[in-house]
Amino acid sequence: MPAQKVNAFEIAKALKGVQRIAIFGHVLPDSDCYGSVFGMKAALAKAGKEVFVYLDARIPYNLEFFKNFDNLENCPYFQNADIALVFDASALDRVENLEILKDYKDNGVPVFVIDHHISGGISDFADFIWQDSDKSSASEMAFDILKVAGFSIDKGAATFFLAGIEGDTGGFQHQNTTRESLEAAGYLISKGARYRLIADNLLNPQNGLNILRLYGLVLERLIYNKKYQTVTSYLTLEDAKKFGVEGDSYSGVANLLNVIDGAKAIIFISEREDGILKVSLRTRDKNVDVQKLASYVGGGGHVKASGFTLRGKIVIEDGQPKIV
Ligand code: 5GP
Ligand code: MN
Repeated sequence: MPAQKVNAFEIAKALKGVQRIAIFGHVLPDSDCYGSVFGMKAALAKAGKEVFVYLDARIPYNLEFFKNFDNLENCPYFQNADIALVFDASALDRVENLEILKDYKDNGVPVFVIDHHISGGISDFADFIWQDSDKSSASEMAFDILKVAGFSIDKGAATFFLAGIEGDTGGFQHQNTTRESLEAAGYLISKGARYRLIADNLLNPQNGLNILRLYGLVLERLIYNKKYQTVTSYLTLEDAKKFGVEGDSYSGVANLLNVIDGAKAIIFISEREDGILKVSLRTRDKNVDVQKLASYVGGGGHVKASGFTLRGKIVIEDGQPKIV
């Protein structure tokens, strides 16, 4: 049975009536995932609730500053919680620690999903869902919930939420930058959110020399497909090893490429461990919907930014990259 649709007020009401709260996010967590999960944790803990977070902290280097605001500890075990929240995941296979979430559900714990993607089927699993693809980020939605609940937002929570909003809007540049997201940012800054810290670390990391070298490789390898007007580039595991950079750290590359005049879509492929390829799709063309494209192959996301994974390896044959 599909989940019952709820709004920020109804989620706020549910949170007020419970004491023990489990919080989940998505695999390969980004700033919005950490932001919504740990921002919510900070505010709920301050309101006297007991919170268990199920997000493994393999923190990318440009998000290390989050450690100033939380130890980012993952709770590895099922706990007796009253309610489970899932942030920023539109499909069940996107949920990190899904087995534990299923344990909660099997034990009768209501599962609430709060997400800003186009639905990828998670509503068939959830009990309650607030899904709104007009929202900039899950962090903005978490902030909305706390605001209507009247819970206080301290400097740490404000910084988490602002980082999530900045990350998902690409520093207030993508088309999901709305009046509401800018107003939320202003309010969060008034609560002490560390805007400069976020800008310096998340958006313009200072220690990213090797990342720049990787960008150089990506730019050298651009392949333009005349027929489909797509631009493709890639990074292999070998590249990542050579420059000592982890896969999670170069997810911004696809955005970097999304400036090419006349390209209908950007396709950026990066090799991950265990023979997995992560594909990021971007477009600035008003007639192209990359979410639809990704959904045909089991992925999803947004109309202008989406992704999917597939099994495979990148090999170079006669100087040309091939997926095998
Ligand atoms: P990115 O390319 O930055 O990893 O992801 C772009 C957008 O697509 C994000 O909103 C992300 O949630 C979504 N996305 C990326 N990979 C997947 C995937 O494998 N499945 C689904 N459903 N969404 C994805
Ligand atoms: Mn997000």
